[in-house]
Amino acid sequence: MATENEQLLEEQARLREKEDRKFMRQALTQAKKAAAIDEVPIGCVIVCDGKVIARGYNRRNIESSVLGHAELAAMKKASKKLGDWRLEGCTMYVTLEPCQMCAGAAVQARLDRVVIGAMNAKAGCAGSIINLLDMQQFNHQIPITKGVLEQECSQILSEFFKRIRVKKKKRPLTNEEISDTIMDAQPGR
Ligand SMILES: [Zn+2]
Repeated sequence: MATENEQLLEEQARLREKEDRKFMRQALTQAKKAAAIDEVPIGCVIVCDGKVIARGYNRRNIESSVLGHAELAAMKKASKKLGDWRLEGCTMYVTLEPCQMCAGAAVQARLDRVVIGAMNAKAGCAGSIINLLDMQQFNHQIPITKGVLEQECSQILSEFFKRIRVKKKKRPLTNEEISDTIMDAQPGR
């Protein structure tokens, strides 16, 4: 039988999972804003003392800037709100695993925790390629919670890319696309 202490810990873990899903849903709302302006749908919120203090979504194309990532936008707003570049005591919720730039900024800002929706095998730097959030050589490490609303977070991305491919195909197909189509049409290939 679980002791009183164990039951309390379990209850706390359950509450935290519930809260993580709640804030990830808000990050997903931000990702949808990016999709609405044809940007890759990635969204982020930063939470301090149980409240969302900053939001951001990917605006890389519209701003013609590599700095247009959701996480940087949210961190910038959070710092402005707190009047401090340090975001100690804050948790970041992001729909896709951060890149090297955003993971680096999160460490620099000394965030308390990073909660991730979907992982990014090709570019993620919170465990996929490298884990910049947990390098003992740096002066700050950030605990990570992964896979919160993972399906929704990856689905919004795959739907976006599907839509982009359909849009692109409205122009004449390139030779490569024609051969892809032929390959697709041949079962067993
Ligand atoms: Zn990034």
